[in-house]
Amino acid sequence: MEYNALRYFFVYGPRQYLGLGYKSVIIKNFQRMLSGKSPIINGDGFQALDYSFISDIIDGTISAMTLDVHSEVINLGSGKAITINDLTNKMKIVAEYTGETIHTDSDETFGTIRVCDNKKAMKLLSFKPKIDIRFDAEKVVSHNNNSMPSIQVPSSKNILLHSEKAQIIAVDEAQFFDDELPHVCRQLAQQGKRVIVAGLDMDYTGKPFGPIPNLMATADHVTKVHAICMSCGNPALYSHRKTNDNNLVQLGEKEEYEPLCGACFHSKA
Ligand SMILES: [Zn+2]
Repeated sequence: MEYNALRYFFVYGPRQYLGLGYKSVIIKNFQRMLSGKSPIINGDGFQALDYSFISDIIDGTISAMTLDVHSEVINLGSGKAITINDLTNKMKIVAEYTGETIHTDSDETFGTIRVCDNKKAMKLLSFKPKIDIRFDAEKVVSHNNNSMPSIQVPSSKNILLHSEKAQIIAVDEAQFFDDELPHVCRQLAQQGKRVIVAGLDMDYTGKPFGPIPNLMATADHVTKVHAICMSCGNPALYSHRKTNDNNLVQLGEKEEYEPLCGACFHSKA
């Protein structure tokens, strides 16, 4: 019988099942953090393991199926080791979890570095892992635990290049786009496509934000969703920035902004 054996290193990625051992550390701790619980690490967390992204392992496996040599044992991994502490810290950022990490008794990985030697895979399969462990929200998990692959575009006109075959186009964070966005959306709608745009209507000073006013004026339907005022509990229309920075675009952290109603916003501004 002709065969080659492939040895996979801690494969992770979308639709991963919750199994045993270190391959499930990622999914288990994501599930814990997204439900408000501390991530758990065995021992001091300085053990370093090689986490390989599923798409890289699939590429390597497919190449191995057409190999002319036989009876080889070939490693497939990312070729890099990350400590469980670093891994957990990256995951905390994605999960927006700011709590403590729990360290339990150390296990057989204590003090070890397990990194895949890809030399043979590179030579026989031209294997080259493309995904470094970094957990873009795009690939593994998003804020609300539903993930959907998306395409990042440098400007609104680039949306046209990607949407030729699409029936539905969804644009997120539309307030950061350039002024061409309403025109681009109109063009897509005229081609019979459905365009869904989400964005903030006002910036932190209460002024209309980027292309949103024009989008709202030209859209067929507009839905305003309101948060709850953090001061009084009434519907909140404004985003109040809690820091003193005057840059219009300050990406990201939940703690920097709080939703406020009109009365509470103007009393703080
Ligand atoms: Zn209020």
